[in-house]
Amino acid sequence: MPVLVMKFGGTSVATLDRIRRAAKRVGVEVAKGYDVIVIVSAMSGKTNELVGWVGETSPLFDAREYDAVVSSGENVTAGLMALTLQEMDVPARSWQGWQVPVQTTSAHSAARIEDIPPENIMAKFAEGMKVAVVAGFQGVSPEGRITTLGRGGSDTTAVAFAAAFNAERCDIYTDVDGVYTTDPRVSAKARKLDRIAFEEMLELASLGAKVLQTRSVELAMRYKVKLRVLSSFEEQSDDAGTLVCDEEEIMESNVVAGVAFSRDEAKMTLVSVADRPGIAAKIFTALSDGGVNVDMIVQNIAEEGRTDMTWSCPTDQVARAQKAVEDAKTDGIINYQEVIADRDVAKVSVVGIGMRSHTGVAAKMFEVLSAEGINIQVITTSEIKISVLIDRKYMELAVQALHDAFELEKAA
Ligand code: ASP
Ligand code: MG
Repeated sequence: MPVLVMKFGGTSVATLDRIRRAAKRVGVEVAKGYDVIVIVSAMSGKTNELVGWVGETSPLFDAREYDAVVSSGENVTAGLMALTLQEMDVPARSWQGWQVPVQTTSAHSAARIEDIPPENIMAKFAEGMKVAVVAGFQGVSPEGRITTLGRGGSDTTAVAFAAAFNAERCDIYTDVDGVYTTDPRVSAKARKLDRIAFEEMLELASLGAKVLQTRSVELAMRYKVKLRVLSSFEEQSDDAGTLVCDEEEIMESNVVAGVAFSRDEAKMTLVSVADRPGIAAKIFTALSDGGVNVDMIVQNIAEEGRTDMTWSCPTDQVARAQKAVEDAKTDGIINYQEVIADRDVAKVSVVGIGMRSHTGVAAKMFEVLSAEGINIQVITTSEIKISVLIDRKYMELAVQALHDAFELEKAA
């Protein structure tokens, strides 16, 4: 039997009623002849509540116990989904990560899946079970402890199962009906894409689009898993939603596929650091050792052997970054006058594989921003994206103006 993976996010299983509705969708696919692996998230809000409980109980918590607590939301949904399917006379069984087993590294709260041996579940399919309901987001470490995969990790569970079971497709059911050119809450002209290339989706996800966990797109790209994003709230046809696929499977596309943004950015500057070889290495080693994820970097022009070094990082890492550079200064590793943090910035990016062959996208982006009077503070580019850091109060304006200028409301 062909295998299909269906993943239901937190809002799609938020109540018993919604679980019933999701189970009906599963029943439709079973009736078509699929063996189905259903990956479930915790009911919406549950994981946040569990994370909150851990923090209240123990501010500097033991990550193994964090995982023990935080993984539990998915266990509830998996059991309820299996029961719901059984009530509909669909042979179903629930599986927690360790039972499959979903083997992961021991990096608690941010574990990576190493292997999913398919034998146990395959044996049950052979015995007539039609649906394996698997708790997403969790696995088991080599030490036999429960692990979790990072927030949003059940997307990654779903793609990993699709790869391990050679599934025909991996359908991600969520509360939006696909991937949009930008967030419809920011631009009313946002358009749903029928298809998007893996690489574009990867950039959009890592640049702030929240529809899929970045890691899940990486895995889908590596294992060529056909990934579809669609709504669990609407009746669905076979070509509903957005297909995330190989660029060869896309006939026509706009030069720019989408505009992404992230409010969760801070800009930090070390004022007056020595301008000589090795200084950047020392600064960014200190930051990386301090657990800071540096994103954009600029070094200003030097004057009299001194320069300013600017970088961006997530807002909630500013304190950590500050401590890392202050410690490095105390230890005599680096020297600077002061460190400045600006939390009122946002990152806006345009993404599209068409940029590989079309010139002028950057020029157009900068012109559009300048016409709106928006100052660009930092720029980074890759082959298929351009990102700028701007004052946060202009973020919506920038997204709308770019969406208009690149005519993303129109299909190619
Ligand atoms: N329940 C987990 C979270 O909220 C995993 C997921 O839903 O993907 O992060
Ligand atoms: Mg999610």
